[in-house]
Amino acid sequence: MKYIFYISAFLIFTACNEKTNSVGDVHDHHEEGGLVLTNDQMEANDYKIGAPQRRSFERNINFTGLIDLPPSHRHVISHFLPGYIKQVKVIVGDHVKQGETLAIIEHQGILKLQERFVAAESELEYLEQEYHRLQQLYKENVVAKKDFLAAKSAFFSKRATRNSLQQQLQLIHISPNAVLSGEMSSSYAVLAPSDGIISSVNIATGTWVGDETQLMALVDPDHIHLELQVFAKDIPALSEGQPLKFWLHGERKAIYTATIHRIGAEVKDDRRVLVHAHPDSISPHLTIGAYVNGKINVADDSLLALPSTAVTEINAESFVLVATDKQDGETHFKRTQVKVIQRQNDWIAIDNKWHDHTFLLNGAFDLIKDEEAGFGGHSH
Ligand SMILES: [Zn+2]
Repeated sequence: MKYIFYISAFLIFTACNEKTNSVGDVHDHHEEGGLVLTNDQMEANDYKIGAPQRRSFERNINFTGLIDLPPSHRHVISHFLPGYIKQVKVIVGDHVKQGETLAIIEHQGILKLQERFVAAESELEYLEQEYHRLQQLYKENVVAKKDFLAAKSAFFSKRATRNSLQQQLQLIHISPNAVLSGEMSSSYAVLAPSDGIISSVNIATGTWVGDETQLMALVDPDHIHLELQVFAKDIPALSEGQPLKFWLHGERKAIYTATIHRIGAEVKDDRRVLVHAHPDSISPHLTIGAYVNGKINVADDSLLALPSTAVTEINAESFVLVATDKQDGETHFKRTQVKVIQRQNDWIAIDNKWHDHTFLLNGAFDLIKDEEAGFGGHSH
């Protein structure tokens, strides 16, 4: 098979070459996994030979994790009075400002509340005058203590009612003064309790919202962080303030950056430690609860490397063409298996023992595959 490879490669490259070698020549110096390229062939195919070079390879710690937000930065939006949803003003992902209207709730009970408030307010005016009048008369011993206490009780009780109704109006953002001057409304607005991003909406127009309904949820993204799971053995290489790269699980194309904020002190049962990191910028794609993967570059190693075009994979093994001889206008190569130490971009790190060898730097794939594809099934 190796012998055939030699011949086939020879034929392929002599076919387009004007200078013809005799077959006898080839047999004279055939080697295992050997290949000869003439200078013309090298030139015609733009093949390059060269030594491996030292390159910097990142040493990374890989991790998985979760995008999280402390409970204090999550808000469940609820309402204070039941009713029907008249309007929903936001959708999931909307950025809202504190005080912005999120939804409008409508119900007759809202009007009734205002009416009760107006009634309580005007009754209170009368009861207050009565209270002061009887207080004076009681001091002058004109009325019985019992009558004075009754007036006092009626006033204080009505005042409590009025205050309660006033607070309810304030909770639904209806101005008590506007109500007293005759502005009544059958609906009220649900407002954003803080700046944030709408993370869920549980209502639609016409939904009845009773006492227990959660209308929507809002997250304040200022404290979105990453809870990362890092193997305990990797922890000594980490420090607070260290940068890292991460991406949403399965979406490796969009790379985000973050900074390590705190490293957990506790090793969990799975030998991992929780590392807390903060993204350097907030993107709407970073949704709470999403899984992430990432890496932390802890060192750069200087390794002997070949361009990836010099290395070919066959059945999970890596092969190169090592230049063994160069004379009489031809270069001899030997197909050789190498151990890949690391890959980074277009470079492949190989063992240091290859430092004084010369390799075919490009086109190795085609030359080595030709043997496999074209002649692999034959035998001599
Ligand atoms: Zn944090």
